[in-house]
Amino acid sequence: MGKVSIGLRGWRFDEDELFTDAGGWKPLEEIPREPRHRLVRLQVVMNKPCDACYLIHGEENKRQCRPASIVYGEPLDEVLLCDEHEADFLFWFRERGGASIAGEETFRDAFHEWFDDGDRAPDGYGGMEHVEEAPEELPDLRDPEDLYEGEDLLADERPDFDDEADADAGDAEGDDAGDGLSVDDLDLDREYPT
Ligand SMILES: [Zn+2]
Repeated sequence: MGKVSIGLRGWRFDEDELFTDAGGWKPLEEIPREPRHRLVRLQVVMNKPCDACYLIHGEENKRQCRPASIVYGEPLDEVLLCDEHEADFLFWFRERGGASIAGEETFRDAFHEWFDDGDRAPDGYGGMEHVEEAPEELPDLRDPEDLYEGEDLLADERPDFDDEADADAGDAEGDDAGDGLSVDDLDLDREYPT
């Protein structure tokens, strides 16, 4: 079986770790720890602003940030990027020492500091070819708090895009299910690498 990205490009999963032979999602408990952590983390960081955009625009202008479409790094120390800023990250990773600290706690901060100092990839720097399309939907991650209590996987210091209309609507409905993903939302269609 091949590799596939879920939700955001960048992180790649072995399909046979996520999906049953019939093509459905495996129960979360049966997914190995590492990809399971990334899945839970994706639930938290999807629809967040690109880290680089946010460094440029800041809290007061965060609506000008593009939503992240790419994720690199380890869960909790991941870097979120839009298409525009992926080349800057890849340049830092390949040419400015990023690869040498991959997996370390300083990874994200080091990229942020480099970028915030005004460093950028040269014009036309080659990005990454992403052969696979990213499916939009995550599996139904039931009560991830129960599974990951104490691991802080659900904590994120990044800002959300403000959407007061959505927040009000949610409150008005008084929906106990909250805004989490449900089985009904699942779209199991996914694109396979070619
Ligand atoms: Zn960006």
